[in-house]
Amino acid sequence: MTYQPDKLRYFAFALDPIHVGTGGYRLGRVDMTIVREPGTNLPKIPGTSISGAARTYAAMQEEGKFPGCAGQSGHCGDPHCPICVTFGFAGTQNGSFQGLAQFFDARLLFFPVHSLAGPVWVTCPEALKDVGVAVDEPDNNFVVVTTDVQQSGKLNLGWLMLGVKPNDPLILNLPQVPQEILNHAVLVSDKMFGHIVNDNLEVRTSVSIDPQTGAAAEKALFTYEALPRASVLYFEVVVSDPKFYQINGQQPLSSNGGKQKVIQTIQKGLALFETLGVGGMNTRGMGRLRVLNLSVGGAQ
Ligand SMILES: [Zn+2]
Repeated sequence: MTYQPDKLRYFAFALDPIHVGTGGYRLGRVDMTIVREPGTNLPKIPGTSISGAARTYAAMQEEGKFPGCAGQSGHCGDPHCPICVTFGFAGTQNGSFQGLAQFFDARLLFFPVHSLAGPVWVTCPEALKDVGVAVDEPDNNFVVVTTDVQQSGKLNLGWLMLGVKPNDPLILNLPQVPQEILNHAVLVSDKMFGHIVNDNLEVRTSVSIDPQTGAAAEKALFTYEALPRASVLYFEVVVSDPKFYQINGQQPLSSNGGKQKVIQTIQKGLALFETLGVGGMNTRGMGRLRVLNLSVGGAQ
């Protein structure tokens, strides 16, 4: 029997617009762009951003037992510290350790767009395939819609008008995603998905405040992109079993829960995403993300 680490798949719903920035370079029409996948150009939330926030939020719930372990340095490196074992540590007397949870990028699954049929959630075969749902890809100028989405032969998605494929309703079985979203899903080709997402991102304008004076700084207007509220994303976390590892000659978490403790620690961290958020500009009402399928035993 070969050893297989646990693969947890999480689905998440944006309660606010979400801005995970690339570092503030001006590219085209916006000052602060969001991170994109190289091949598809689709926005994503990097696994490192998810893992960093989950680490901080999980540590906050350890009631001060591991105060140095929340951030990027100052870790305790104790084999019984759930934060260090789960998320890794560096520069301790026990050396460095990669961490038993490996976080992958969050990718878009359903993207909300306004249409004459009301709000709809656009998706594509490539995204659905990643979560185990196989569908036929429509041509670039066609959509496949559910019976709840009006079917008058054409459907607009933002400014774009596409033909509706007749007699072929879209039925999606994804129990982790709210039925309301599945009922208003619209399937487009992989290529059109990229166009529709990039044409319908939120672009906001804001004023930066000079910390010295409290007034608006000179040349202070800046624009930034964000994933819109009600976007649905998914991401995976791979969990390795502590019994195959050693930290300073000891099996990590051997006396306080083993692998279940790692999963619990991940989920405690993820549970606070819906109140404390992920990414930048949380003080501007951005970033809250509800993880939809948290459970005691791990993701469903
Ligand atoms: Zn620690």
